[in-house]
Amino acid sequence: MNVKAYAAQSATTPLAPWTVDRRAPGPKDVAIEILYCGVCHSDMHTARGEWHGVQFPAVPGHEIIGKVAAVGKEVTKFKPGQVVGVGCMVASCRVCDSCGEGLEQFCNGPVSFTGTYNGPVGGGANTYGGYSTAITVDQDFVLAVNHGEKDLAGAAPLLCAGITTWSPLRHWKAGPGKKVGIVGIGGLGHMGVKLAHALGAHVVAFTTSKDKVADAKKLGADEVVISKDPEAMKSHANSFDLIINTVAASHDLDAYMVLLKRDGTQVLVGAPPTPHPSPAAFNLIFKRRSLGGSLIGGIAETQEMLDFCAKNGITSDIEMIPMQDINKAYDRMLKSDVKYRFVIDMASLKA
Ligand code: NAP
Ligand code: ZN
Ligand code: ZN
Repeated sequence: MNVKAYAAQSATTPLAPWTVDRRAPGPKDVAIEILYCGVCHSDMHTARGEWHGVQFPAVPGHEIIGKVAAVGKEVTKFKPGQVVGVGCMVASCRVCDSCGEGLEQFCNGPVSFTGTYNGPVGGGANTYGGYSTAITVDQDFVLAVNHGEKDLAGAAPLLCAGITTWSPLRHWKAGPGKKVGIVGIGGLGHMGVKLAHALGAHVVAFTTSKDKVADAKKLGADEVVISKDPEAMKSHANSFDLIINTVAASHDLDAYMVLLKRDGTQVLVGAPPTPHPSPAAFNLIFKRRSLGGSLIGGIAETQEMLDFCAKNGITSDIEMIPMQDINKAYDRMLKSDVKYRFVIDMASLKA
């Protein structure tokens, strides 16, 4: 079935209308009419060819909320009319150790997991994401969404920004008695603040933007630090259990390593196209500190996060845009001028 979409035809052309062919649902597939799609910084890294191995045309979008239009005959988990979500993955090998442990994002199968867009890292046909009116996905990679109707647009960013911060918060055991830093208050960072707060941690937000201080407190930060202020940074030396760094550009990681206490960990989730300057070994050695990384989250933990958010009334703070404004939205995102996630109203593309 041909459906409307927006695609970048090359790294240097803006996104523009295009058509993608969605497969008719096979026995285990769910056909989804897309209602909303969040705009992740990864979409822009991809559309502008900033990462290695991008295939064009590229149709970004991996924060998808939609309604089930039809299901294949072996589908047991979903039924037509149900509200569902699709995040960053649409397939994985399902037999490797990682898949067996519900960590499909770390699939060691021959071609790794398949991304919702720009999927086949190891070869094969390209995949096209949520900047379109419909998508067909295997039921094992579809999530149940239990937010109310009015919260559905705000729930879209949970599918990437939410799970990408939730997964390391849970893995490194953020909770009561833990001091957690969130660096960069953008799409991922503002969800990190909300989720760390909801998990009961003492939350410190680090921002380069003075105008985000009041907001960060409303989002759930107990303290906010302007990361360009050396004195303010120094006052938090040796004090953090965990710092989650969401910044989308290369920068000095040592400024945060020295804020960790003994055995503390800084986790990188931001994926800048150029490497960070190497951190100093002495900052790691003398306090047994760790520098780690984390990639989105598995399907089971994504469902756990969605259910936690539905139960606790957590959504993303969004600015709704029509599909036609996507290029302007990218330019604003690059200037950190979004509070705090753009979400595309897919009705604008259907019209
Ligand atoms: P975003 O909305 O643009 O937020 C990034 C924030 O980083 C900005 O709002 C800004 O916050 C801060 N920042 C930007 N440029 C900076 C600079 N030069 N120096 C210091 N701070 C800077 O982006 P996002 O959608 O949250 O994504 C963030 C990064 O995570 C991207 O690289 C994306 O590709 C990556 N990502 C990774 C995963 C994963 O699985 N690991 C998943 C999704 C996204 P302040 O204004 O507060 O300083
Ligand atoms: Zn993303
Ligand atoms: Zn696997």
